[in-house]
Amino acid sequence: MAHFLSRLFPHSPTPGGGGGGGGRQLFSEFWKMSRNNESSSSSNVAAAASSSAGIVKGSSVLEDEGAGGLVQDVADLRVKSPEEVGGQDIVVEEEEEEEEEEDETLVGLGFVQPVEQAWKVSRHHFPSKVGGTPAWLDPINLPYGKQVLCGICDNPLQFLLQVYAPLEDQPEAFHRTLYVFICPNMACLQQDQHHQRKQPAEKPCRSIRVFRSQLPRNNSFYSYSPPNPDGQDSPSCDGVALCTWCGAWKGHKACAACKQTRYCSRNHQIEHWRAGHSGFCRQVQAAKSASHPEPGSTKDVESVKVEAGELMPEDLHEPHKKNLPGIACAASDKLWPEFELVVDEEYNYEAEDNDRSNPGPQMEVGQSRAKQLLDEYERRRKAGEEFSASDLQEVQEASQEQQHWVSFQARIACAPEQVLRYCRSQDAKPLWPLLEGQPKKSTDIQPCSHCGGPRNFELQVLPQLLYFLRVKNEPSSLDWATITVFSCTASCTSGVSNGYAEEFAWVQLAA
Ligand SMILES: [Zn+2]
Ligand SMILES: [Zn+2]
Ligand SMILES: [Zn+2]
Ligand SMILES: [Zn+2]
Repeated sequence: MAHFLSRLFPHSPTPGGGGGGGGRQLFSEFWKMSRNNESSSSSNVAAAASSSAGIVKGSSVLEDEGAGGLVQDVADLRVKSPEEVGGQDIVVEEEEEEEEEEDETLVGLGFVQPVEQAWKVSRHHFPSKVGGTPAWLDPINLPYGKQVLCGICDNPLQFLLQVYAPLEDQPEAFHRTLYVFICPNMACLQQDQHHQRKQPAEKPCRSIRVFRSQLPRNNSFYSYSPPNPDGQDSPSCDGVALCTWCGAWKGHKACAACKQTRYCSRNHQIEHWRAGHSGFCRQVQAAKSASHPEPGSTKDVESVKVEAGELMPEDLHEPHKKNLPGIACAASDKLWPEFELVVDEEYNYEAEDNDRSNPGPQMEVGQSRAKQLLDEYERRRKAGEEFSASDLQEVQEASQEQQHWVSFQARIACAPEQVLRYCRSQDAKPLWPLLEGQPKKSTDIQPCSHCGGPRNFELQVLPQLLYFLRVKNEPSSLDWATITVFSCTASCTSGVSNGYAEEFAWVQLAA
C-alpha cells in the first residue's frame, strides 16, 4: 500500500525521471524514495560517495627546506583547474570506494522553483520553501520572546527557508518541518561566528536559528487525510495572528490607533509606519470618527502620525483573518523572494557529462583569499624570490584550501543550481566548501537542548541560494560558504515546551 505521503502530493512531478532536473519532486516524495533506497546498495550512490571523499590531495612535498627545492615545491602547489580535477580525476582508490559503499546514504539536492499557486506553499500542504513567510506547521505555539530576535542586534530574525522532513518510523513525527531564520545583517553573522565556539549552550546569542516542529498524523491542526490537490480546502483550524509587516512571528501587539494591524515588535511597527501604514491608519481612524464622532478625535489622528502609534498587547490566540487559509502575508518588501523547494537525488546527476566550465552562480565565493595568496607566491617564485619556512607553511595551507575548494566545486558542478543538500542518517556529513571553519563534532556541535542527546548533521544550505535571493554582491551583504544544520538524532518531543524545538546551526563563512 502506498504511504500517506505518496498520496499527499499528487500534483508533484513523477519521481525518478532521470538526471538533468527531470526527476525533481517535492521533498515529501524524497523521504519515501530515500527510505526505499537505503536498504538496497546502489552503485550510483557509491559513486557519489567516492567523489565526496575524493578531495584532491595537495602536494605534501614541503619537507625539504633547501632553497632549490622550495621553488620546485611552490610550483608543485599550483592549483588545478576544475577541468583538471573534475570527473574521473578525483576518484579515490577502489578499496576505499568499497568500504564507503556500506555506509553511504542518499543525498537529496534541493532546487528552487517559482511558486505557481499560492496554496502550494500554504501550511496544510506541508511545503518546503524558501523566502517569503514561513508556513508554520504548528500555527499556534510559535517561537516567541528572545527566540525570534537576533541575539546581536535585537531585530526580529528573517525567514530563510523550511524543509518538510517527516520521519516514517516515528509516529509523533508523521509531519516534521525544519525552519531556518537568519538576521540579514552580515555584521551580525560575523559576530555570531566569531563567538560560535564560545556560545553558552543554555543562553545562545545567535543571529541564525533553526526550529523543528513535528506532529502526529492525528492532530488538532490538520486533517487525517491528505489535502485536496486542487488547493480548494483550508486548514482545519486558524493560526495565531501574525505580524502584519514580516508575516513570520506572532503579532502579539496591535497598533493602538487603528487596532487592526498586528506586530511582532516595535521595530516592525515603525518600519510599517514609515512604509505607508500611517496613511492607512489615518483613514481607518477618520472612518471611525465619522461613524462615531468623539471629541478630540482629529487631534488623536495627528498624534498617531507623530508617535507611530502605541503598541498594545492583544490576546495571543486570536485568529488573524487575513492569514487564512493558512497562507501568511506580509506587508514588508524586504522579505526574500519566495520559491518552492523541490528535491532530486544527487546520483541522478553523477553520470552526466556536465559542463564543468560553468560551475554555476556565485561559485567564486570562498576561494578568493587562498587564490590571491597562491597568485602572489607564483609571482614571487617567477621573480626568483626566496621563501621562508613560514612562507611555505602559508602557501601549503592556501594550496590545500584551494584544492579542497576545487573538489567541492567539482562535486557541486554536477547540479550547479542546487541550493540545499539533505541527508539524515548516522553517517551523514556536510560537504564543506572550505577546510577552515569546520566544527569539531565532539565539542562544537552542542547536544540537544531538550533531551540532552547527540545532534547529527541533517541539511546544509549552499551559497548558490544567495544568488536566487538576489542578495547584492557588496562587502556588507549577507554571505556564507555553507549553513549546516545539526538536529537531535532522536528528533525528541519530550522537553519541548512549545510547538518548536530549537536545533543547531553551524555557519562556515566565506573567506
Ligand atoms: Zn542582527
Ligand atoms: Zn514582524
Ligand atoms: Zn494603525
Ligand atoms: Zn532531543
